[in-house]
Amino acid sequence: MTKHIFVTGGVVSSLGKGLNCASIGMLLESRGLRVNLQKFDPYVNVDPGTMSPFEHGEVYVTRDGAETDLDLGHYERFTNAPISRNSNFTTGSIYSSVINKERKGEYLGKTVQVIPHVTNEIKECIRKLDNEDTDVVISEIGGIVGDIESQPFLEAIRQFGHEAGPGNVLFIHLTLIPYLRAAGEMKTKPTQHTVKDLMQIGIQPDVLICRTEAPLTPSMRQKITLFCNVSQECVIEELDAKPFIYQIPLMLVEQGLDSLIVKKLGVKANCHDLGKWMAMLNTLKNPAHSLEIAVVGKYISLQSAYESIYEALIHGGIGNDARVRIRRVESDEIEEQGAQNLLDGVSGILVPGGFGNRGIEGKIAATRYARENGIPFFGICLGMQCATIEMARNCLGLAGANSTEFNPDTPHPVICLLEEQRKITKMGGTMRLGAQPCKLVPETKTWKAYGKSDVIQERHRHRYEFNSAYAEAFAKAGAIVSGKSPDGELVEVWEYAKHPWYVCVQYHPEFQSKPTQPHPLFRDFIAAGLEYQKKR
Ligand code: GLN
Repeated sequence: MTKHIFVTGGVVSSLGKGLNCASIGMLLESRGLRVNLQKFDPYVNVDPGTMSPFEHGEVYVTRDGAETDLDLGHYERFTNAPISRNSNFTTGSIYSSVINKERKGEYLGKTVQVIPHVTNEIKECIRKLDNEDTDVVISEIGGIVGDIESQPFLEAIRQFGHEAGPGNVLFIHLTLIPYLRAAGEMKTKPTQHTVKDLMQIGIQPDVLICRTEAPLTPSMRQKITLFCNVSQECVIEELDAKPFIYQIPLMLVEQGLDSLIVKKLGVKANCHDLGKWMAMLNTLKNPAHSLEIAVVGKYISLQSAYESIYEALIHGGIGNDARVRIRRVESDEIEEQGAQNLLDGVSGILVPGGFGNRGIEGKIAATRYARENGIPFFGICLGMQCATIEMARNCLGLAGANSTEFNPDTPHPVICLLEEQRKITKMGGTMRLGAQPCKLVPETKTWKAYGKSDVIQERHRHRYEFNSAYAEAFAKAGAIVSGKSPDGELVEVWEYAKHPWYVCVQYHPEFQSKPTQPHPLFRDFIAAGLEYQKKR
């Protein structure tokens, strides 16, 4: 029987619920349990696919092509859970499903209501992850207790707990113990209040994870215990884990959270096996080398907009015993100040994915700077498209070359709309999405990076593609195709043979990188950066 953990949050958002869920998942896996994770987001959008990164941060794409919350990226980086489209639901997706059922007449003439119809739908979404191959499901409830829009989700998990019975469900509440500088004191009152809010809904938390800047004193622990109805051992202190999020599982294990969960849920578990994780952390904390990589994008002020990219770069560093320092460069600013001024001194340049016109010329200038100066370059999705435009303009003599996304009337549409996209009018969930096979060309850098695999699987999220009509002209200039869709129609990877490391991919390799298993292209990109740094 699958057991369930529900993780809620209180006091403020952004306390790291996603990272805590991922860390708990990782710890349970380290004890031989098979876990799965999911997140409920209380907003009304059906998925975050149509939201601006400024609103929502990165859109994370699952293997099966769902556009989801970036917390799922943490789940995949920390665990081996089979994350899929059943790992993320929103108020919008729940209501959309209920309304579809109502239109089909499935409610047999009943008045359709939040309780029971919407709450039943939420419970069904939770049970979608129940199966013989899963010991524990961790469900994260987005937002905080007290948000109006969270109410149906909290009511649903309360009912779920009641129906599953004691010992089968565990409620973990993540809360904040703020430090008031003026008073020189830490305060437990907001935690007492948020737990009261939860209890009013009918949920007694089993475990409290207290985010704090300084250690909890014994008297604070006593207060929390007394007012929140939890025993001392169930009050877990969590100090800020900066700069290494991968330390969080260790903070939890030191306080016995995993053993507590195993005991409370009555599951059979092995002793920990944290060897691989500890070795990874050791490299992360004490690397032999260090280098600086520039990421050139247009949402640079927001860490979460390129979360998976930044993490994958760090993983690439781990794979080379190196610390990766990331220089975040606004593409707009390159347009104003020039590439040389902003990119001088870096050992690698990465241009990530994106949409729309703003900052495009700055990104194109960055790809040119990397090409002309022999600096290792990694172009991802839009970054690949920018490199294609740059090479067409400056090496193939195709003045005005562009993507039809940015200039529909360009004389040289080296990037154009995918055939399958031409009739699409709706925006949500209609891109080329999810894992697709890609056939690699032997002896290329890409093929070697992937351990000489002939066919790989990588995740996509795009509407535009490399225009194959120009492939021959590119090859003559030294840009060779190193990966194609199996039918040979779509160019998925190209690399510039006359350069130490210049690899451009249409897909998003960052979604498959883990700290314990760096993605091969990120690993080789960082290796090339170290090589460049040595020679410079
Ligand atoms: N805007 C480009 C396209 O739709 C690139 C998308 C991306 O970088 N994810 O093809």
